Amino acid sequence: MTKKPFVTKEQLEKIVKEYPTPFYLYDEKGIRENAKAVRAAFSWNKGFKEYFAVKATPNPFLINILREYGCGCDCSSYTELMLSEAMGITGHDIMFSSNATPAEEFVYADKLGAIINLDDFTHIEFLEKTIGHIPKTISCRYNPGGLFKISTDIMDNPGDAKYGMTTEQIFEAYKILKEKGAEEFGLHAFLASNTVTNEYYPTLAKVLFELAVKLQKETGAHIKFINLSGGIGIPYRPDQEPNDIRIIGEGVRKVYEEVLVPAGMGDVAIYTELGRFMMGPYGCLVTKAVHEKHTYKEYIGCDACAANLMRPAMYGAYHHITVMGKENEPCTHKYDITGSLCENNDKFAVDRMLPKIDIGDFLVIHDTGAHGFAMGYNYNGRLKSAEILLKEDGSTQLIRRAETPQDYFATFDCFDIGEKLAKR
Ligand SMILES: *Cc1c(COP(=O)(O)O)cnc(C)c1O
Repeated sequence: MTKKPFVTKEQLEKIVKEYPTPFYLYDEKGIRENAKAVRAAFSWNKGFKEYFAVKATPNPFLINILREYGCGCDCSSYTELMLSEAMGITGHDIMFSSNATPAEEFVYADKLGAIINLDDFTHIEFLEKTIGHIPKTISCRYNPGGLFKISTDIMDNPGDAKYGMTTEQIFEAYKILKEKGAEEFGLHAFLASNTVTNEYYPTLAKVLFELAVKLQKETGAHIKFINLSGGIGIPYRPDQEPNDIRIIGEGVRKVYEEVLVPAGMGDVAIYTELGRFMMGPYGCLVTKAVHEKHTYKEYIGCDACAANLMRPAMYGAYHHITVMGKENEPCTHKYDITGSLCENNDKFAVDRMLPKIDIGDFLVIHDTGAHGFAMGYNYNGRLKSAEILLKEDGSTQLIRRAETPQDYFATFDCFDIGEKLAKR
């Protein structure tokens, strides 16, 4: 399989006349089609709702598109709550799934009427002390410990993860919350990240549905929703088979009918908090080759760096790269594709076979629509790029301007960098 960019070289040549590289480009058409497919895949469940994980792509223009398909916001910090409020997303359209939560964030989430998803048993007391009551609707995050497997494949290691309550704790939590006045309960778990298998959600659903039946029986709590959270992945590599959301939705339905319906829990709503799956494939980082270097290896230096996209440096993550206009040329050259940070891990690709790259070539770094721009940082004083939306009609809209030196220096109150300098 090959990976094809959602933008053509001709389109890019036009875009760069207005917006210099590097920049993030997002594909409106792809975002819409996928959001529609997610909604359709779970349409069998009356209460279904996707809470988009804001941290993945915190851009109001993009979140507004998802909203047209019924999506709410999954927030985990003060500024993510602010962004939601500014967009008019409040109340139960916000899921507040945080951990190690500062008191003022619980206060704010409660003020907005968000559903609070408690990460820990001790947060019950902390929340009650902080906001003065226990909300009527409340959710708890579960961590079964051990290894999370699908048949014999180890998917992830929840026993080593900082999130969620143990089985014992969650039973106790439900009992206490009920005594303190909670009336509607949610159950949440996120056990494996970036899964490229249609089995993840159904397997997780089975764990959570069986637990929900026991919880309802033993504690008498009314379970209103089960939140399968994020974790549906995308095929970063061209040889990976993409997930099929329709099959995933049907897989969850099957378990729902096997476990929840016979227990008289056929009214439970299914929630999701997908980030990567909603946006990942529909964003790319566009950069230009500005240097070539021939030493012990062959290097191409480009105008983007790990400050724009951290995943390769942080996780050794693979991101496919297309040299625009050379899609059909043979991959005869082995390159390290680097940014300009004074950090040797600032490489978008290592030993990657690509067509011969010439200075001035545009490189499209694929699948950066989630956990891409958002993870950016300012090391070496590098500035964050613009974000641009490629609309369905082929036109473009600037949805976040690039940072300027003024932005970078804005937090010094005691040191004047000087108007003239900062404007450069
Ligand atoms: C990061 C996160 C998500 C989204 O994860 P993806 O892998 O992008 O789907 C959802 N919920 C919570 C609580 C998260 O921390």
